Amino acid sequence: MSRFWSPVVHQLTPYVPGEQPKVNRLIKLNTNENPYGPSPRVLEAIRAAASDDLRLYPDPGCTSLREAIARHHQMNPAQVFVGNSSDEVLGIVFQALLKQPQPLLMPDISYGFYPVYCGLFGIEHRKVPLDEELAIRVEDYRQPCGAVILANPNAPTGHLLSLSAIRTLLEDHPDQPVVIDEAYIDFGGESAVTLVNEYPNLLVVHTLSKSRSLAGLRVGYAIGQTGLVEGLERVKNSFNAYPLDRLALAGATASFEDDEYFRQTCAAVIRSRETLREGLQDLGFEVLPSAANFVFARHPARDAAGLAAGLRSEGIIVRHFRQPRIEQYLRISIGTDEECGSLLTALAGLLRA
Ligand SMILES: *Cc1c(COP(=O)(O)O)cnc(C)c1O
Repeated sequence: MSRFWSPVVHQLTPYVPGEQPKVNRLIKLNTNENPYGPSPRVLEAIRAAASDDLRLYPDPGCTSLREAIARHHQMNPAQVFVGNSSDEVLGIVFQALLKQPQPLLMPDISYGFYPVYCGLFGIEHRKVPLDEELAIRVEDYRQPCGAVILANPNAPTGHLLSLSAIRTLLEDHPDQPVVIDEAYIDFGGESAVTLVNEYPNLLVVHTLSKSRSLAGLRVGYAIGQTGLVEGLERVKNSFNAYPLDRLALAGATASFEDDEYFRQTCAAVIRSRETLREGLQDLGFEVLPSAANFVFARHPARDAAGLAAGLRSEGIIVRHFRQPRIEQYLRISIGTDEECGSLLTALAGLLRA
């Protein structure tokens, strides 16, 4: 604490990311990273970009990346906004679209960064409880509000809303921005990007951190009609005109040029998820249906914090949230089949003890 802080700093409750352990050899299933490396084409492109040209500023318009993203989604580059991680894109979205005279609606259990941004930017918000199955029920959002944000699939539950449920939400709020955070959509959901041309109030946010194995590169993007994107650009250019460096631009663009690798690795993660789900169920766990690269599971007879600590002592880290309604769940990221196998073996041992 310091008396030199701006007053708002005293009120902040910052986001606490999952642990990035300093020791190797741990099986890391706690932050939803992809177990496979990025496409070899990405690494080649980054190596080629590591040149004398680093003395030059990068393209402030991020043109080639926005074109590659637009091609992937069959949209127009003017409908694409890119940023240095989807966390940054979300931060800009909260300022540009979600700070309205009426409160912002969000699920009571969702990505932990949303309320943090509200604290930083002074955005009044109201949390809408998940139903008994820990699912988002879009009908519960039929109430006066200034805007809506939710993650689909939701985190940390993995629960997926159908495109028709998203449509209902959009039609219930024709005069409010509706932001869908699709960080995990490539692991089995249908993207709402296909609705963007129909709904001027829709903004869809994606990240390259999960399905494209680029958490270390920090690239995210949003897709919406051009008016929404212009609003995001205004905020971005009032803060940092060059958020994406040359290496990130080169690597991210190359990722969209290797669709084959992208589809194969997503399919492998989905297969491993289903195998892990069955393995956990065989051990007596209740596992929520997941459309993400993690599962959310509880054991009816064992304390989740105890299991997480037991796993940790065996060199396996998973995520446990000390939060009402979900404190008996573990969120387990999908690793390689070998890593998932080690997890199941360790859990079986802990359950026998
Ligand atoms: C991981 C995650 C993000 C952040 O992604 P980055 O691009 O790595 O900042 C955003 N939203 C949700 C729901 C996530 O799980």
